[in-house]
Amino acid sequence: MKVLKFGGTSVGSPQRMKEVSALINDGKQKIVVLSAMSGTTNALVEIASYLKKNNREAANVCINRLRHIYKEHVGNLHAKPEFAERTMQFLLGTFDNLLTMVSREYTPELEKEILAQGELMSTNMVIAYLQEQGIKATLIPALDYMMIDENGEPDLHYIKEHLKDILKKQPGYEIYLTQGFITRNRKGEIDNLQRGGSDYTACLIGAAVGAEEIQIWTDIDGMHNNDPRIVEHTTPVRQLNFEEAAELAYFGAKILHPTCIQPARYAGVPVRLLNTMDPQAPGTLINNEMRRGTIKAVAAKDNITAIKIVSSRMLLATGFLRKVFEIFETYNTSIDMVTTSEVGVSLSIDNKSRIVPILEELKKYGAVEVDEDMCIVCVVGDLTGERIGVASEIIEAFKEIPVRMISYGGSEHNISFLISKDDKKAALCALSRQLFGEKE
Ligand code: ASP
Ligand code: MG
Repeated sequence: MKVLKFGGTSVGSPQRMKEVSALINDGKQKIVVLSAMSGTTNALVEIASYLKKNNREAANVCINRLRHIYKEHVGNLHAKPEFAERTMQFLLGTFDNLLTMVSREYTPELEKEILAQGELMSTNMVIAYLQEQGIKATLIPALDYMMIDENGEPDLHYIKEHLKDILKKQPGYEIYLTQGFITRNRKGEIDNLQRGGSDYTACLIGAAVGAEEIQIWTDIDGMHNNDPRIVEHTTPVRQLNFEEAAELAYFGAKILHPTCIQPARYAGVPVRLLNTMDPQAPGTLINNEMRRGTIKAVAAKDNITAIKIVSSRMLLATGFLRKVFEIFETYNTSIDMVTTSEVGVSLSIDNKSRIVPILEELKKYGAVEVDEDMCIVCVVGDLTGERIGVASEIIEAFKEIPVRMISYGGSEHNISFLISKDDKKAALCALSRQLFGEKE
């Protein structure tokens, strides 16, 4: 069985919902995970934030605006009056509920309940449409089997048991439709897997049922070998190893939630990224296979701060790095790149909210230098040490670009360069030319 997830834009209008329905109606049994219609979760976040500020009037205005939009959708989605009526009833009930919710006192729990309505609406609309088409489809509520623990971590064992049970009780359906993003927590409350969490839902389900494949459908054709907003002529990467995908996820390869692929990876279920706008395109396959000798992609991350601590006390001393790292731990700031010399250490962070106290403490250990507005550029692929020449081939692309740090050997799949953000475009273009032979 395959698990297919469609994001907000893929179900962003009644027309899109119909296209998704046609796409999933191929006679094969599958589980389909949907996000909220695009824009809805943001609107719900806004509603909750008005409630938090005690501005109920603004919350009501937002709800009514959203209700108006959804009411319009019903006529465009359904042809048969009984199905239109059913969807309308569900949506009106949801909006009545929302109005009641914002009349209550704000709590974080209430906010999560508000945020859950987007996925509840999109799935109820699509299931009604599928059934209207005579397709054997059933809705399996995520709130009946998704579970997170006290730390917000999914309880895969619980999910497995409950999902298996639900599927067993409803055999013979072609499509099992369910909500992404939403879950229950240990207290039985409605909760969520964080923004963008529908990909995570799909991967958890895929792992729980031991799916043959997890497909993440978006509106781009897979993961590209460089940033298409900056470099021309990028191409989709056909295959990535799970580790390569994990490296890229940090660099904001936007189509994948960074933690989402972990469950799939542990369960050995391949993940395929596909494009709703071009369903025949091969997309990107992420699996356990390691293709030797290939560089897969280049990615960059902005807003990086580099910190250098130089101290002659580091020379031949033990425990110096531990002290430095502890300071970052104390201030809950994660370190991304690290390079060391005998007398100093350079590192990078992407969250500088606690930088003032961090710098204060670091100054006890040496001379501290800070560079802001830096950017990490990373190259991902097979970079195993035995591949003679690969490092120099990559570094060659930087021959005209000042490099602040280089990190190589941390994993077999990544080499990272820290440069000024002003040089980012030049670096990405040079790497594309050098590694993929692309023209700018
Ligand atoms: N609807 C949620 C969001 O916008 C979850 C998702 O789409 O993945 O964050
Ligand atoms: Mg998304």
